[in-house]
Amino acid sequence: MRIRSLPPQLVNQIAAGEVIERPASVVKELVENSLDAGAGHVEVQVEAGGSRLILVRDDGGGIHRDDLTLALSRHATSKIATLDDLERVATMGFRGEALPSISSVARLTLASRQPGENNAWRVVADGTESGYEPQPDAHPVGTTVEVRDLFYNTPARRKFLRTEKTEFGHIEGVIKRIALSRFDVGFSLSHNQAPVIRYKPAADDAQGERRIGAVCGEDFLRQAVRVDFASAGLRLWGWVGLPTFSRGQADMQYFYVNGRLARDKLVGHAVRQAYQDVLHHERQPAYVLYLELDPALVDVNAHPAKLEVRFREGRLVHDFLFSALRRSLADLRPGAAPMPAM
Ligand code: ADP
Ligand code: MG
Repeated sequence: MRIRSLPPQLVNQIAAGEVIERPASVVKELVENSLDAGAGHVEVQVEAGGSRLILVRDDGGGIHRDDLTLALSRHATSKIATLDDLERVATMGFRGEALPSISSVARLTLASRQPGENNAWRVVADGTESGYEPQPDAHPVGTTVEVRDLFYNTPARRKFLRTEKTEFGHIEGVIKRIALSRFDVGFSLSHNQAPVIRYKPAADDAQGERRIGAVCGEDFLRQAVRVDFASAGLRLWGWVGLPTFSRGQADMQYFYVNGRLARDKLVGHAVRQAYQDVLHHERQPAYVLYLELDPALVDVNAHPAKLEVRFREGRLVHDFLFSALRRSLADLRPGAAPMPAM
């Protein structure tokens, strides 16, 4: 066989295989786009576990009429322009892959209006990337993305969808994880028209704490200690659960690096070590932690869907996390002497 270039829709479907695993992946990508657009409120409507409908509406900066078609084509992004930008990227997205991937495996409509414009515009994608002509639409400032019939044209993928309830559970998990990263943004989520989540935007720290209570439960808040440490350009803050709030599963462990949810072996190890003396080894700690550091010291360009990050100074980060957490937990050990100041 001779070599040929694959048609764009197939290229996008292959890419979709990597990032769009299930309805919750669509929700993640769309909500992250809303946050990148500066939204103050993000509304998510889901029907039939997301396989019939996922609708994400925001009040962010919108998309210019002449960019609507481009937004649906591969490797088109407004978020980075150079390698230098990539190294200090502060937005959730930057690959320009989500919208083309989603539109290649579902029926996608994009409606948007920018501030100062009289009109909203809408494009309906059929997955072919062949220049959709924007049509005038009625829409407030911001953007709505409507995704219907996910995987209608990729039966192999569709077969892997679980029950409505399971798929919706994953979606709820995504909204909670994202809501913990942005206290200042309001989120709502409904399933088959029934409201499920309603988080108001927080104006101050006390309200931020309310977000923690809303997502993790008031019980967690009551049985957690506040953490806030800074040293050598690193800051760690958040809430760590007391041993009395330990769990059988690792289902309440949220760790954010510069606002981005991250999973990292090094971090896991530092946390486990810090809890070693206060927690039975079969129990799992609960925590919501935020690490802030110079973006140049962490690489987020590891994988489009996985939560990996790479720290330039891994050892330094590990030791900082360990000692910060150890100090927060030190008073909890029976008969423990206070740790020396860092
Ligand atoms: P990326 O987020 O990696 O740039 P996407 O495919 O997710 O790629 O989106 C492509 C582009 O479409 C974005 O760079 C952005 O300019 C625009 N866009 C997508 N969603 C929104 C939104 N909700 N509000 C404003 N612009 C958006
Ligand atoms: Mg994106």
